[in-house]
Amino acid sequence: MPRPIQATIHTAALRHNLARAHAAAPDAKLWAVVKANAYGHGIERAFDGLRAADGFALLDLAEAQRVRDLGWRGPVLLLEGAFEPRDLELCSRLGLWHTVHCAQQIDWLAAHKTNNGHRVFLKMNSGMNRLGFAPASYRAAFTRLNALPQVEEISLMTHFSDADVTKGIAAQLAVFNDTTRDLPGERSLSNSAATLRHSANPDLKTDWTRPGITLYGSAPDFPEHTDAHWDLQPTMTLATKLIAVQAISTGATVGYGSSFTAPAPMTIGVAACGYADGYPRHCGTGTPILVGGMRTRLVGRVSMDMVTVDLTPVVAAGVPAGIGTEVTCWGRASNGTVLPIDEVAQAAGTVGYELMCALAQRVPTVVD
Ligand SMILES: *Cc1c(COP(=O)(O)O)cnc(C)c1O
Repeated sequence: MPRPIQATIHTAALRHNLARAHAAAPDAKLWAVVKANAYGHGIERAFDGLRAADGFALLDLAEAQRVRDLGWRGPVLLLEGAFEPRDLELCSRLGLWHTVHCAQQIDWLAAHKTNNGHRVFLKMNSGMNRLGFAPASYRAAFTRLNALPQVEEISLMTHFSDADVTKGIAAQLAVFNDTTRDLPGERSLSNSAATLRHSANPDLKTDWTRPGITLYGSAPDFPEHTDAHWDLQPTMTLATKLIAVQAISTGATVGYGSSFTAPAPMTIGVAACGYADGYPRHCGTGTPILVGGMRTRLVGRVSMDMVTVDLTPVVAAGVPAGIGTEVTCWGRASNGTVLPIDEVAQAAGTVGYELMCALAQRVPTVVD
């Protein structure tokens, strides 16, 4: 028998979350961001749940090919554009829309031979200082692109660094709006956090939103708001089973480094999930986990293939817990109880994004 671990991708939850993102900015078209293999869900597995999107945005050319292989003929946007000149050949062949964020990419486009006009998203660095033209050079870049026969349409784009936190988007938005005021073209500004938190901002005109994490059921601004606050549903469940139970006495320790010491007699469960499955090793004692659909906690360190959990409250509540009992690392238990991935991520000092993206290859994954 294989190890009892399994991940499940929930199609109905993807559909629900997509509808939530749409509802937050109902007049805008929506790029479903499916980079990093649909945030670890698998592009092919997530596709059905996300096919109501207006387009798919990603950055790896092989992933763009996979979206086309699924039969998607609608828009596909490369969020970082071409990495080298020959990438533009694939853009022409597959009809990919692509970001232009630096002068070299315009040079490459100017030298590119094609009969198919390209749709480009001209990216401004409005303050995040990662990708994009500085405001002072943005309009010149627009003029240059606009003169190229290879370019059919130019859209205007920027990305916010703080849409999820108090600092907000005002400063970047002002820079973007001031610079682009009289330029033609559609606008694309909002990631998940901006879509959920700032869509009512009258200065934020976005023709295309670009939600990612929201689609996958994680709150972009956790812990200020939870998935439940935004009415999002988990799209990935990582489930396993108990493979052993230990009764330990006061003073006994659990796991590598003996990092946990029992303050009283306890029942410990051993679940078949470890850091080689993508469960973060930084999760320590106290990390929430569900056993038989009931919330309890991790005790001791995460091993490569196992975690140890406190069964004492589970047993006390009369929930049967023995070999074969369901353990939910994140997502939805079969009794319907949800353990948000954001809470597990927080216990590891990270964000839900990282956990879903790090789901290991070895975990068998099904779609429901
Ligand atoms: C990843 C990404 C997004 C989506 O961000 P979320 O926080 O997951 O919504 C949007 N735009 C760009 C340019 C990105 O790289």
